Amino acid sequence: MSKDIQIVKRDDIEIRIIRPLCISAATCVVFAENTFDLDEDNIAIIKEGQWDRLEKIVAAAQSCPVLAIEVFHKGEQLWPKKS
Ligand code: SF4
Repeated sequence: MSKDIQIVKRDDIEIRIIRPLCISAATCVVFAENTFDLDEDNIAIIKEGQWDRLEKIVAAAQSCPVLAIEVFHKGEQLWPKKS
């Protein structure tokens, strides 16, 4: 997969990974293993199949040291927080 932004929307949840920012820390995978994975280049990707609960997805996004994961619910941006 190329190092672009990956955007996946499912039901009320939209996840974006700003892949050029990813530094392969993999904490997102630890927090939400059913939602995030690393590709062959060790860059985060959004997985197919059943995702984790929204709380876990947000926790995963919050764990990312470079703010490479954005989470939206019903169009509202949950993370990163808008100031
Ligand atoms: S936590 Fe952030 S930097 Fe680490 S793999 Fe996930 S998206 Fe990449």
